[in-house]
Amino acid sequence: MQPLARSVALLLLCPLAAALPGARGGRGRFWHLTDLHWDPGYEAAAAAGRPCPSGSGRAGPAGPWGSHLCDAPWALLRSAARTMRDILHTPDFVLWTGDDTPHVPNEQLGEEKVLHIIANLTSLIKETFPGTKVYAAMGNHDFHPKNQFPGKQHRIYNQTAELWRPWLSDASLPLFRAGAFYSEKLPSPGTRGRIVVLNTNLYYDQNDETAAEEDPGGQFQWLEETLTNASRANEMVYIVGHIPPGFFEKKRGRAWFRRGFNERYLSIVQEHHRVIAAQFFGHHHTDSFRMFYSHTGSPINVMFLAPGVTPWKTTLPGVHNGANNPGIRVVDYDRDTLQVLDMVTYYLNLTRANRMASQWEAEEFPLWEAEYRLTEAFQVPDGSVRSMQMVLERISGDPHSLQSYYEFNSAKYDLARCERECRVDHVCAIREVDFTKYDECVKTSSAASAATSVWLLVFCVFLGLLSPQRVP
Ligand SMILES: [Zn+2]
Ligand SMILES: [Zn+2]
Repeated sequence: MQPLARSVALLLLCPLAAALPGARGGRGRFWHLTDLHWDPGYEAAAAAGRPCPSGSGRAGPAGPWGSHLCDAPWALLRSAARTMRDILHTPDFVLWTGDDTPHVPNEQLGEEKVLHIIANLTSLIKETFPGTKVYAAMGNHDFHPKNQFPGKQHRIYNQTAELWRPWLSDASLPLFRAGAFYSEKLPSPGTRGRIVVLNTNLYYDQNDETAAEEDPGGQFQWLEETLTNASRANEMVYIVGHIPPGFFEKKRGRAWFRRGFNERYLSIVQEHHRVIAAQFFGHHHTDSFRMFYSHTGSPINVMFLAPGVTPWKTTLPGVHNGANNPGIRVVDYDRDTLQVLDMVTYYLNLTRANRMASQWEAEEFPLWEAEYRLTEAFQVPDGSVRSMQMVLERISGDPHSLQSYYEFNSAKYDLARCERECRVDHVCAIREVDFTKYDECVKTSSAASAATSVWLLVFCVFLGLLSPQRVP
């Protein structure tokens, strides 16, 4: 990197300086990394002038660092890994919440290819953070055929367990083989923290294997027991997984879990929320969060959804302009209580990176920038449930906060105005993980939004009637 570029890089990364180690005894940091979606055919297709395999035939320019129509080329993943190493090379641990393979039909993959891709990404993460504990969850794309995860032993679970063996304790290994979920005590000395990694692909409505089951893999029962034991041992827990419960904020009414599974998940969080410090999930490729409430409506828990590394524009019907810039995230937390203290999200402006590429030497890396620090951007003291409820209220009531949140949602890819219906989609998805309550939220918010529009119209007509008399 040129000296000037290096200085700019340091300047852009400076929000991190406020959280350097040693500032406070119990403060630790970890990476949350998700949805890498490597497209191994990207480079060859770009060189031949063909659309990338993950582009679903959509034509478009294929830059050296990737394209918003495609999954990630290896160069983009390497640059993400290098950036993480430069910013924080000894995190306490890494959360890696899955989806490694490209968005291509099953026929273009196969069990061997899926495992080959998982193995390559596992190596990349291992080499980036040697000796660091990684808590890895399987994404719905990390299986063949995709989404069809069984609630019992499977070759792919066995093979993945072998790849992740250095990160798994002896107790976790048989559990992983039986259903791809596990729980581990955090490695930091003196911590009372525990990580619970779930295989929520078992609850996905696209999963035919588990459709008729009440508790696939016995994961719900295991989760309840694990949380009960954690509570008895005075531990605090992070729940980590790929597919989140609740709704996709970019498509109204699109949930991922089957209804019964969504209800069971919610009731477990309500029952055990005191022991759950936070939840970390992926799958959306967008930056958002979800609130959980008690039966009486008090905020009791928060789930953070991290932006994806792949910039791939979703083909989900009804989503407008659903791409994102590649994103990665550092979380500051209290090592004792696991309370989330802050988060800094970093992103790559992909369009700019590709434009700049021609000016750099071949081995140079594009510049990832600090996008925002949670506490600064939303003026809250930390990432606690209480603070995130304040963030939600700001997003809900203040158009300026809503717009900031909306731009972060795609890691500054989509800078369009977020108004009325967009606000309803995002606010209801954040506020209501429960299916019935989400529907009510959409209905009442849309009605309120429509009423505001009518009043605005009436007001404008009124002004229009007045204006000819005032203007000579
Ligand atoms: Zn994904
Ligand atoms: Zn996914």
